[in-house]
Amino acid sequence: MIDTHCHLTHPRMEADAGAVIARARAAGVTACVTIGTGAEDARRGLDLAARHPGFLLCAAGIDPFTAHARGGAFGEEIAALRELLRGGRFVALGECGLDYHHDLDPRPVQTERLERQLDLAEELGLPVVLHVREAHDDALAILACRGRGRGVVHSFSGGPEEAERYLALGWHLGFNGIVTFPGAGALREAARATPSDRILLETDGPYLAPVPVRGKRCEPAHLVHTLGALSAARGENEDALAAATTANARSLFGIYGGPSAT
Ligand SMILES: [Zn+2]
Repeated sequence: MIDTHCHLTHPRMEADAGAVIARARAAGVTACVTIGTGAEDARRGLDLAARHPGFLLCAAGIDPFTAHARGGAFGEEIAALRELLRGGRFVALGECGLDYHHDLDPRPVQTERLERQLDLAEELGLPVVLHVREAHDDALAILACRGRGRGVVHSFSGGPEEAERYLALGWHLGFNGIVTFPGAGALREAARATPSDRILLETDGPYLAPVPVRGKRCEPAHLVHTLGALSAARGENEDALAAATTANARSLFGIYGGPSAT
């Protein structure tokens, strides 16, 4: 299994990241993508990844929270992001996106920041890790305008109708612990309707721990619970789903080589 989205540089994870990674390996996780939410965070991700070669991979983007914190300095932040990504050590641009739940900045501002990062990903030929919270219609409109995209809607939380629209535009869907929550019937329906070559597994650790560890700090080792819930929802064998989602992650993020990343 590959955890395609976790935050190992998060203050709640960084101090014992080595132990977190050891538990992940013991639980059958063969690689993790740690997500940088801004340039500074992404640099810390690279440092951590250098200590876990072949296992830890990095993505870098400017998420709505960092974008808000940088405010008028967003231009500088994106220049720093571009320099980092041009170094060639990142498997994806992200996370970036629209967050209408927190709604920290006016929606046109959020849209413009997303568009600039989508342009950058296109220029550099990188897949995108998209954060969309309570903003599916606007995100879908932006993606549709740009034609077929390459990337993942991470922490997908919509129903079958939204899933279908992202899939039609060529996007993958990332499922995490939410799929184990009792109230997530529509999400499980979406998971059932998603072809197995478009599903990615993720934890989004330290957030969104799955049942039966809900409420605790989430870490990549918890991916097994999400795999279990997802295969139950789909009526699909766990090993088959683990193999399919691993192949999807490898192909989307260009993860080849590295004996432990098989
Ligand atoms: Zn995230």
